[in-house]
Amino acid sequence: MVCEESWFPRIDRHLCTGCGDCITRCPTEALRLVAGKAALAYPELCTYCAACEEVCPAGAIELPYLIVKVPHS
Ligand code: SF4
Ligand code: SF4
Repeated sequence: MVCEESWFPRIDRHLCTGCGDCITRCPTEALRLVAGKAALAYPELCTYCAACEEVCPAGAIELPYLIVKVPHS
């Protein structure tokens, strides 16, 4: 079973400094600052491009990747 939520960027609010770099970089404007921390405000806009993960200087954003093993027939 695949949980779709696992495909969204995860933002660690404890690590986030609120610099806003990921928000500036996100090509689809899916991110916003909420109470001084980055948040995926519009997950439906996220294309999973990983730009936010690459730009974050605090290492606060992680994109989980799912590896599906296909059994041999
Ligand atoms: S993965 Fe890409 S589209 Fe999704 S929030 Fe990050 S920068 Fe925006
Ligand atoms: S780039 Fe990283 S530290 Fe800066 S607002 Fe985004 S998640 Fe927070």
